[in-house]
Amino acid sequence: MTQIAVPILVENVDDALTAGQRAAAAGADLIEWRIDRFDDAAGLRELVERSPLPCIVTCRSEREGGGFVGDGAALQARLQPAIDAEPPAAYVDVELATWKREPAVKAIPADRPGLILSTHDFETRPSDLLRRVADMAGDERCRVVKLAWRARSLRDNVEALEIARQQVKPTIALCMGEAGLPSRVLAKKFGALLTFAALDDAAGTAPGQPTIAELKGLYRWDRLGPETRVYGVIGYPVGHSMSPPIHNAGFDAAGVDGVYLPMPIPPEYEHFKATVLTWLDCAPLHFRGASVTIPHKENLLRFVREQDGEIEPLAEEIGAANTLTVRDDGSLYASNTDYAAALDAVCDTLGIGRDALAGRRVAVLGAGGAARAIVAGFARHGATVVVYNRTRERAEELVTAFHGKTGQVVAADPAMLPESDCAVIINCTPLGMHPNVDATPVEQAPAWGPGTVVFDTIYNPIETRLLREAKAAGCATISGIEMFVRQGAAQFTLWTGEDAPTDVFERVLRERLA
Ligand code: NAP
Repeated sequence: MTQIAVPILVENVDDALTAGQRAAAAGADLIEWRIDRFDDAAGLRELVERSPLPCIVTCRSEREGGGFVGDGAALQARLQPAIDAEPPAAYVDVELATWKREPAVKAIPADRPGLILSTHDFETRPSDLLRRVADMAGDERCRVVKLAWRARSLRDNVEALEIARQQVKPTIALCMGEAGLPSRVLAKKFGALLTFAALDDAAGTAPGQPTIAELKGLYRWDRLGPETRVYGVIGYPVGHSMSPPIHNAGFDAAGVDGVYLPMPIPPEYEHFKATVLTWLDCAPLHFRGASVTIPHKENLLRFVREQDGEIEPLAEEIGAANTLTVRDDGSLYASNTDYAAALDAVCDTLGIGRDALAGRRVAVLGAGGAARAIVAGFARHGATVVVYNRTRERAEELVTAFHGKTGQVVAADPAMLPESDCAVIINCTPLGMHPNVDATPVEQAPAWGPGTVVFDTIYNPIETRLLREAKAAGCATISGIEMFVRQGAAQFTLWTGEDAPTDVFERVLRERLA
């Protein structure tokens, strides 16, 4: 069973033991005592003997991202107390380069503790990576092969995970950096010996290392297994996306064997295509779908078209999709859950079905990506949509694209908004979004009141100035979190065939935004 090791940089025995106890309480299986700058033989022996969990002792060199400077004899002397302790450390880590170059380290016994041979590259994937793996695995003294390199892209995770899966010896294969997170979370799915997790945000010893709380809470470590299906949010950047917390909590609540990861992919189509193909081609990964956000919504359509997949007709008309579904037969489906989420949020608030939107007047503020999906959805259902946008040409583009497709679409000057007679007003601009919470797209209100629905697609803050003022005027209001929850719920259903636990989605979102 793949274990979680928490690295702790040792400065003194007492602080290290306190940190070790916190790691044990947080659910770690192993502690890695990092003694790069701790040169106290008696202290190390005490630390190993009193370690609250089995331990790895590592003295990482400056060359490989640590703080130790010294030759093989100095390293051997530094590690010796971990070997002499009763009981000894479970493992000591020696870098492959040192092992090859410094005869003195060969005095370290192979079995007591177990010898980890390791190699690290904080810049890129070493060109001789597989040679290094073979050298480590082929050394009869080596008990554990460890390799870590900075992921050049999400694709490198697949190589790390495959190395872990095809191991001839127990293996630790991890990618560093933001793009390397999947290798750390999915190490268990692929049967690696262990993954590393930081005790807290400040305690990571390698870039991209999750905390143990994230690994066990957010990424559902205890539930992961070889058959776990993998989903994610593809975008750039995606670091602050709310989708991983809601979907992982949803999988948990619904008992779905899935995990949902951030998937940062640089903007160009070739990056998108190469990454998604690599993930789809790795059968043991079980990559089954993704939420797709800026800047890849158009790329998703192009990709699915090229792969002879199916595209939802309205997503094609909008020119953007936000959901990739990989069906059981491997075929691809691209769809857009944004417009449906917005339509249904408005219809439910009005207490009507989508059919009853025909002839209703809807004001859309903004003409960007979100507005495009919403304008298309309302026009498709027969509404008359008035687009108010700062840049008139972009509003006119929406008129050209969607006017006459069942409903009407017209462009209007934002200065005319106070004259609007629309009973539904939808903000699709970022005006009022955190941190500019005093801004509003409606400086001078139209004749709104009971009977008007005001919908702000912004979800941070949950209640924008626009919604506050609309509510004070007696309007019915819809927050962006409702749209976010609904678009996520539709994705959940596409992927799992089950109703999403929307109450869980909303609770998680509110907790995160509080
Ligand atoms: P976008 O493509 O960049 O479009 C932004 C639109 O807002 C453009 O039409 C732009 O006008 C206008 N705008 C920007 N700054 C403005 C300003 N200072 N004054 C007046 N107009 C301004 O962005 P998007 O992807 O459509 O996203 C827009 C909003 O929708 C965001 O706040 C986002 O949070 C929200 N959203 C919410 C959800 C959800 O699930 N709740 C989903 C998607 C998006 P110009 O054309 O003149 O540049």
